[in-house]
Amino acid sequence: MPIISVKNLEFRYGSREVFSGVSFDIERGDYVGVAGQNGSGKTTLIKSILGLIKPQKGEIFIDGVPSGKFKDWYKIGYLPQSLTLSKSIFPATVKEVVSLGLLSRKSFPKRITSSDDEKILEVLKILKIESIKDKLIGELSGGQQQRVFLAHALVSDPEILILDEPTTALDPEIRENFFETLRRLNRDKKVTILLISHDVSHIGNYAEKLLYIDKKEVFFGSFKNFCQSKEMENYFGEHLQHFICHQHDEESGHKHL
Ligand code: ADP
Repeated sequence: MPIISVKNLEFRYGSREVFSGVSFDIERGDYVGVAGQNGSGKTTLIKSILGLIKPQKGEIFIDGVPSGKFKDWYKIGYLPQSLTLSKSIFPATVKEVVSLGLLSRKSFPKRITSSDDEKILEVLKILKIESIKDKLIGELSGGQQQRVFLAHALVSDPEILILDEPTTALDPEIRENFFETLRRLNRDKKVTILLISHDVSHIGNYAEKLLYIDKKEVFFGSFKNFCQSKEMENYFGEHLQHFICHQHDEESGHKHL
């Protein structure tokens, strides 16, 4: 059974259609890059899956349950598009922000136990932010804040991780660490990942499958199938098709297929 199933989704803001005819199944353990130009509807699609907004048409199932009836939202970690907080509006420490990620799966009374504390420290260590655990979130750089929000999303051991343009605030070195962390989570812990990006030149380095939308579903499937598709060659042109697919050895020009 797919972990996320989207059937014939259509979304409009007022009379303005964002997308229609979007259908795909994401299997447990998939690593999917969600790509498309700015304004193509990626964030709208993700917010629909998360139940934050309601599409006009279509169905979404999470773990086999219609999303309207799905209750276990703690199973999904969500990192929204570059969120930056200032000290004045959110006076909490790094550790406190991360601990909030555990509260969503607790019933009342919501208390942090000593085993929770261990879990929080473990996640802080993985993301190399242990040393700043007592700092106020508003005092951190954009890149540090981004890692704190990722820690918040990871601390409840989500089965699905959805990241919306997660690395815009990260400098190149930290970006590589960040992607390495995602790769390990996907490979070792079988976390299903949806990584949204408008930058098609990188996404094939990380993800195994591609969902490309542009007011409709242009493609869903493996990068390998994308690379071999005549239809995609007609849509993107040969150069851009292979620039996106990342299945080629740059120097020899040979395909890794
Ligand atoms: P992407 O994430 O691919 O950049 P979005 O899903 O954010 O695209 O936006 C898709 C389209 O919907 C854009 O044209 C955007 O301007 C429009 N849009 C997004 N949010 C709203 C909103 N709350 N009200 C009206 N239009 C919106």
